[in-house]
Amino acid sequence: MLMQSARPLGELENPSEFIPRHIGVSEEDERHMLSVIGEASRRALIDSIVPRSIARGTAMQLPPATTEAAALGELKAIAQRNQVFKSFIGQGYYGTHTPGVILRNILENPAWYTAYTPYQAEISQGRMEALVNFQTMVCDLTGMPIANASMLDEATAAAEAMTLARRSVKSRSNTIVVAGDCHPQTIEVLQTRAKPLGIELVLANSHEQWVKAIAGDYFAVLAQYPSTSGRIDDLRLDVETVHAKQAAFIVAADLLALTLLVPPGEFNADIVCGSTQRFGMPMGAGGPHAAFLACRDEYKRSLPGRLVGVSVDVHGNPAYRLALQTREQHIRREKATSNICTAQVLPAVVASMYAVYHGPQGLKRIAQRVASYTVILAKGLEQLGHKPRAAAYFDTVSLHTGEATDALIAKGHALRANLRKDWVEYIYISLDETTTRDDIKLLWTIFAKPGQQLPDFAQFEKGVEPAIPQALRRTSGFLAHPVFNSHHSETGMLRYIRGLSDKDLALDRSMIPLGSCTMKLNATSEMIPITWPEFAHVHPFAPRDQLQGYAELDEQLRAWLCQATGYAGISLQPNAGSQGEYAGLLAIQAWHASRGQAHRNVCLIPSSAHGTNPASAQMAGMKVVVTACDDMGNVDLDDLRLKCEQYSEHLACIMITYPSTHGVFETQVKELCALVHEHGGRVYVDGANMNALVGVAAPGEFGGDVSHLNLHKTFCIPHGGGGPGVGPVCVVEDLVPFLPGHKSGGLPEHAVGAVSAAPLGNAAVLPISWMYVRMMGAEGLQHATETAILSANYISTRLREHYPTLYASKNGHVAHECILDLRPLKDSCGVMAEDVAKRLADYGFHAPTLSFPVPNTLMVEPTESETLEEIDRFIAAMVAIREEIRKVERGEWPQDDNPLKNAPHTAATLLKGEWKHAYPREVGAAVLDERRHAKYWPPVGRVDNVYGDRNLFCSCVPMSAYE
Ligand SMILES: *Cc1c(COP(=O)(O)O)cnc(C)c1O
Repeated sequence: MLMQSARPLGELENPSEFIPRHIGVSEEDERHMLSVIGEASRRALIDSIVPRSIARGTAMQLPPATTEAAALGELKAIAQRNQVFKSFIGQGYYGTHTPGVILRNILENPAWYTAYTPYQAEISQGRMEALVNFQTMVCDLTGMPIANASMLDEATAAAEAMTLARRSVKSRSNTIVVAGDCHPQTIEVLQTRAKPLGIELVLANSHEQWVKAIAGDYFAVLAQYPSTSGRIDDLRLDVETVHAKQAAFIVAADLLALTLLVPPGEFNADIVCGSTQRFGMPMGAGGPHAAFLACRDEYKRSLPGRLVGVSVDVHGNPAYRLALQTREQHIRREKATSNICTAQVLPAVVASMYAVYHGPQGLKRIAQRVASYTVILAKGLEQLGHKPRAAAYFDTVSLHTGEATDALIAKGHALRANLRKDWVEYIYISLDETTTRDDIKLLWTIFAKPGQQLPDFAQFEKGVEPAIPQALRRTSGFLAHPVFNSHHSETGMLRYIRGLSDKDLALDRSMIPLGSCTMKLNATSEMIPITWPEFAHVHPFAPRDQLQGYAELDEQLRAWLCQATGYAGISLQPNAGSQGEYAGLLAIQAWHASRGQAHRNVCLIPSSAHGTNPASAQMAGMKVVVTACDDMGNVDLDDLRLKCEQYSEHLACIMITYPSTHGVFETQVKELCALVHEHGGRVYVDGANMNALVGVAAPGEFGGDVSHLNLHKTFCIPHGGGGPGVGPVCVVEDLVPFLPGHKSGGLPEHAVGAVSAAPLGNAAVLPISWMYVRMMGAEGLQHATETAILSANYISTRLREHYPTLYASKNGHVAHECILDLRPLKDSCGVMAEDVAKRLADYGFHAPTLSFPVPNTLMVEPTESETLEEIDRFIAAMVAIREEIRKVERGEWPQDDNPLKNAPHTAATLLKGEWKHAYPREVGAAVLDERRHAKYWPPVGRVDNVYGDRNLFCSCVPMSAYE
């Protein structure tokens, strides 16, 4: 035996242990990959790709990498600075019990949280079924015919309802009337969103003001049902008045209350929005939660967000796919209905499963219990001398507490209970699913004067009835579909969830090489903290001193992201990239206005831009001017110069993506920034491609003034099947005063208002990015970036003779992704990029990004997390498919009957008695040798999109369809 020499203690401790777990490529793999590319070292490769002019001057100042255990320990200490009080605040956020079977098998299960947005229908049937359940649940509970598959939060959903109404009604008025007793954060976001669109928002703060306002002229009214103070108004009385004005009636509603209340659809409301948070998603200091938006049938073609619809596959079986507005920003650009891209799929799946598990009876029982407890609470309070103000309420009582208000709130805090104070002298108390008899006694204790005897719970118990007027009680049924009436045992539920996830391809099975989307590792240690009670069970509007943990998390993460981007200030409030774009453009606008330049409203956008860019510019009230790209895919500087001169006086900004959406580091980016600055404009750098930059170059240093990040791309928050995301907006020094504020959430009110319902947006997923940066350190992050670039170049090089890369720099290199040009195949044999995408599903892969930014191409982004083995497996599949294409080219297989056109192949078609195709069954099955034991079987054949859009159907499939 050889004597081992002692290794240094530092090496045994290995604080960098996480880095090679995150980065899939080992040193040895790296040498091999570099030799294929023909570069001597990683350093040399990067130097030959990243323009010298933009290379970082200094390294990022970050705490050194630490182990998973140490990072979790450090974060736990931060989490514990949050104080978890019992919340009676309400205001759109409630306690809820996430059923264990849903918590562990969805929220904490990578099969669900690592999935991508379901653009590839055939491999996304499971999550789309869950989303159709969500849409059905929303339709049934609101009484509306159509609902989309989630919005970002209730406040932005209300803002989208406002613009949906404006697009859809006949009234030409510019005014919206908003009831003053809507949730304050909803009003705040509406005010932000109305301003740049020239919409006048009239707030009706009393019944008299409301009556007066709805007698006037407007395109929509918005009321909350029940109101933020808990009162239930009979909104039916006003609907006719509103419709007589050719205007829309928008109702912000609570889904749990709607199990007992006449739903807005039954009194002819036009649009209904709200949050599904209390259906199983923890409060999480404000998010992520799925909001919803439902509307009347006539509006469906301008409904924003994603809508899952039912169609058929080539075999005539029912199959789901995204309907109508799918990727509409990419098609309609600045005419898109909204900029929403990443939504809240994972929380929507949780909410839908909560309804599946409880069923209509279970939901009603929860609602009745909440309503009954609220009545008992009210009666007891009345005995104690505090008579509630409203006679009709669901879960919230409102009390006029006058001078005693602050003392009562403080007494609550002393008993670790949060009550809500409003208008200085009122207190609201909201109950929820988690409320117990003891909680009600606790509340009585707060309100009892010294020596006063507490009411006796038992005396109120008999015959207790919800405080809902007879005329407003719901009589119609809901959730009658079998899916909501079948899976009520835990075993049944577990298998239903497992069955759905088995239909889908997520990162837990194979790589998802989606250009622009950065589907990297979402490490388990990063995910663990999000369900810690200290992060999950706090209310976004709890007193600041109870949210110190979140404050610290916010501060540290912002400081680190400033290091990564080179910017001076950051807000984590936007809850998707699109929202960060919007907030960034508002900051630019407000800055111009502050200098007397409010007329500057032109936003230059290169033709290759992501569709959210023009859509956001439109929402910010800007005029979009498209600038050209040259043959190399770069922004055409001559054209840009012309446009800058032409619009010099009105130039607000340019929005570029860097590296470009063509996957190339443009060498002239500094000149581009300087040019725009010369003409008085600012530079917005879309940060979706930060995975090619972190540690290597910083947009805040090379000329950017504003960027958004996608923490759900570069910083490891999982895609969740299409959300949640976080889209921090980052700015240079002079724009810091124009970051979003949040007066309802206790943040300073900046020039630009709130852009999200909660001050920290999707706060509960921020720990993921914190963990990532903490475990990687500056060197690890830079290593990750360099490996992402290395892997993309390896794929581009190895596939070159099969599928040429469309855009590259002069030396043939790409950035962190490469666009494979499949356009020539159409002429040679009729094969389209889409056929290759579908064929990849047979081989067990999720397709790369299809036809963005160039039609009929595939954009491949491997990220640093994929192992060489997996990358090689992907390459092998792509080469095997190219061989199949050659057979079609040579005429061995007909152009209309080959494994590509017929892809994907389901097990059922391959097992059918007779086989009538030009190629054998084994070829159809496409099993790469080493995967024989783990073949993925697509559950449906090619889905017919056109059929689905012509026969739009967005609720659960009637069982007869399966017969
Ligand atoms: C993903 C992406 C966006 C939009 O981000 P969301 O979080 O989906 O709203 C914007 N620009 C580019 C280039 C992107 O890839």
